[in-house]
Amino acid sequence: MKFSKGFISRKDLGWPASAAPLKTKKTLGVKVHYEGTRSPVRDHSYCKGYWSGIRNSHLANKAEGYSDVAYSLAVCRHGYVMEGRGVGYRTGANGNQTLNANHDSVVVLYGTNDSAVSAEVVQGLKEAIQYLRTGGSGTEIKGHRDGYPTLCPGDPLYAYVKNGKLNPDLKDDDDVTPADINKIADAVVDRLLSADKFTAPKDAADYSDDPKNPRHYWTGRSVFADLVTRVRSIDKKLK
Ligand SMILES: [Zn+2]
Ligand SMILES: [Zn+2]
Repeated sequence: MKFSKGFISRKDLGWPASAAPLKTKKTLGVKVHYEGTRSPVRDHSYCKGYWSGIRNSHLANKAEGYSDVAYSLAVCRHGYVMEGRGVGYRTGANGNQTLNANHDSVVVLYGTNDSAVSAEVVQGLKEAIQYLRTGGSGTEIKGHRDGYPTLCPGDPLYAYVKNGKLNPDLKDDDDVTPADINKIADAVVDRLLSADKFTAPKDAADYSDDPKNPRHYWTGRSVFADLVTRVRSIDKKLK
């Protein structure tokens, strides 16, 4: 699958294979998360190290007893998709065993300091969700707060969870297909031929020189029909 900005694998990150449990069934979909603390706004060159730091802090969390970073995937603020546990592994981020078995997880490396969601992040999230679907993730797109008492993923991201714009099946507004173009072309031609837009010839039987009178106008079809008739009659005379 194609990633607009790029996919950063565990191998790229220098991580070993995940020790997290494998999924035992398909999930209903994905839950979206954020960091829940302030998140530094820095150049993309910091993102790999930053994501590795999050994994290290999860591994050091004795209370949770994590076997790996808790999230399935991450999307950095620049729109790159970074591998977490990865497709096929059960997430540890959603709150409890049942919630983790029901949904995969994607964390956006946004924090409480982020008040808007960039187009790059929306695109990265769509790609992350699409990628999870290749590994047995259902079509639901929810927030961590759905079914668990937390503010995560924060109001700006949650608005996108709700407005449907993270759906990877959704085409961009400017994504016009050749079939769309054909439909538009047919509609234009039909409008041109059927609307009374052309001044009728003065020698027409029912011509009116009053522009307010409908007889002042012809449709494109009438114009063409008239032209053909005239050309044929000239042609006949020439022969
Ligand atoms: Zn969360
Ligand atoms: Zn980045």
